[in-house]
Amino acid sequence: MIKRIIQLFLILIAFLLLPSASPSLAKDAQVTALRWTSRNDGDPPFVRIAMDLNKAVHAEAAIDNPGKNFEVILRNTSLGKVATQYDMDPRAMDLVTLSEKDGDTYLDVALTKPQKIDDIRVFALRPDAKMKKPHRLVVDIPVIGAKQTYKKKAAAPSSSASPSSYKKQSYNVSSDAKSVLKGKVICIDPGHGGTDVGAIGHIGGKEVYEKNITLSIALPLRDMLKSAGAKVVMTRETDKDVYGPWADADPELQARCDVANEAHADAFVSIHIDSFSNSSVDGTTAYYNAKSSKDLLLAQMMHQATMNSLSIPDRGVKSNDFYVNVHTAMPSVLMEMGFITNGHRVKMLTSTWGPRGIAQSLFNGLVNYFSAIS
Ligand SMILES: [Zn+2]
Repeated sequence: MIKRIIQLFLILIAFLLLPSASPSLAKDAQVTALRWTSRNDGDPPFVRIAMDLNKAVHAEAAIDNPGKNFEVILRNTSLGKVATQYDMDPRAMDLVTLSEKDGDTYLDVALTKPQKIDDIRVFALRPDAKMKKPHRLVVDIPVIGAKQTYKKKAAAPSSSASPSSYKKQSYNVSSDAKSVLKGKVICIDPGHGGTDVGAIGHIGGKEVYEKNITLSIALPLRDMLKSAGAKVVMTRETDKDVYGPWADADPELQARCDVANEAHADAFVSIHIDSFSNSSVDGTTAYYNAKSSKDLLLAQMMHQATMNSLSIPDRGVKSNDFYVNVHTAMPSVLMEMGFITNGHRVKMLTSTWGPRGIAQSLFNGLVNYFSAIS
């Protein structure tokens, strides 16, 4: 066992609240299983530890001062019939233990090399009915100094959804678009991110996360708008939480509104991917809140541009009181760009051309909106 409590100078990274947890502490939560796997498809490679849970829990993560002992504390969580000691990948860790103390469960990882807490990723996955998976808490521990043995295929559909491969670029933009967008401040909000993966889809038995798709649309949209001379403000440009890990919905969404409000943006576009239990459902919806006379117009222009350029079912322009639409001080729209649970759509959303095509349609919508109000 690691002499953790005495030795650790606990650096608390976050008070973790799983997205679907209630603000009260989870009672009767239990770790029902632990799996681990060495993954060579990351750069660097990493060891993924996944704990199955019967419900969402509060968790905290900490590391000691030399960075050799990493710990995740699952509050008010008991340990089910699960092995308590693991010999995992010796490239990353010497020993992993699970223990229960005072009603909390501890995952302790003795690392072979010192690590920084920011490099260890902890995130939650909601239950996934299709894959028959429960609540999960996932810990990804990098294998430091290992050579990447896995080479990404250039056009692999499952990896192209990963925006980490996106390279900043400039686009050819019409002079009309330039004259309309020049100097406009536009805030782009790629939905979800970091500990919040958003909706989950599947390709070939692998999970696909909404947070990666929204970013893979937002990044080319950013560059198209910049190429037209707009000032683009992004709520995030990488796979991260905007407010902080495991935040409740309101502070997380307010942080996104703050980015737009503080930049005095002229328009706010939140990008999301929909999901539904019935996989035949697909289509795009533009949501707005009629807080100003221009919110509906923005939604209509974005929606129309989407229908003009994408072959996607029409689910209309709808009024709603989504947080980001209500709490932004400028005209704003929340675009649901198809269903991740639809087999045809998720292929398009994770292709190399799909997100770019969606970005182009959103770009056209913004050009049409700003030319309509000028
Ligand atoms: Zn979403």
